[in-house]
Amino acid sequence: MNVDAVRTALAAMRARIDGVARSWSHPVEVTAVTKAFPPDAISAAVAAGCRSVGENYAQELLAKRPVLDHLDASDRPRVDFIGQLQSNKVRQLAGLVDRWATVDRVSLATEIARRDPAGRVLVQVNATGESQKGGCAFDDVAGLVEQCRALGLTVEGLLTVGPTNEPPAAAADGFEAVRGLVDELGLEVCSMGMTADLEVAVAAGATNVRIGSALFGPRPKQQPPVHPDRDHPG
Ligand SMILES: *Cc1c(COP(=O)(O)O)cnc(C)c1O
Repeated sequence: MNVDAVRTALAAMRARIDGVARSWSHPVEVTAVTKAFPPDAISAAVAAGCRSVGENYAQELLAKRPVLDHLDASDRPRVDFIGQLQSNKVRQLAGLVDRWATVDRVSLATEIARRDPAGRVLVQVNATGESQKGGCAFDDVAGLVEQCRALGLTVEGLLTVGPTNEPPAAAADGFEAVRGLVDELGLEVCSMGMTADLEVAVAAGATNVRIGSALFGPRPKQQPPVHPDRDHPG
């Protein structure tokens, strides 16, 4: 993985973010999504200046652990788990994941609280109603935030994913609704926006965007995992 290329892509990404006319004054953090890219995408992202990385699959993240362990402590990025997560994978990932960003049910929150007491989490919202997407319904978010806190978890904010196979503008209403909920609940982090819909997300008030292909190039074709990291249909 070519560090200069990633650095150039990151600068272009920041220019895209800065180019969005918006009323928000908060900074927008870029999390480098390294899923399906080789392990050295993590070290390249860090060398290019990213302070956080996102991974989607438990086995893949475990396989990349040596790259993370090899970094100086001061260079170690925050590791966000951003894929759908089976509760039985939490034990192996505890100690490696710094922020569990796809908490969408109490059973998962309970397991995280057991394996990573006081762990940092984002509650994932399904803002599109698509059944293949993770995330809890809007109406369930406040209750789940409460339950996470009761379990001792640190709820930093919300995460959502825009609609699949729709033009980026189709994400706007959902993103604005999620941002509204972040404010209503007094949370800090609003993680939304990927390569295709980042402008829409930043305009709606994202504080964190999750970017893969715009930083690293087209994602290599990945064999579907033998045991997909999901245990529920939504
Ligand atoms: C893959 C992925 C991303 C990044 O997607 P790109 O289109 O490569 O930027 C962001 N968020 C989640 C949840 C993802 O699964």
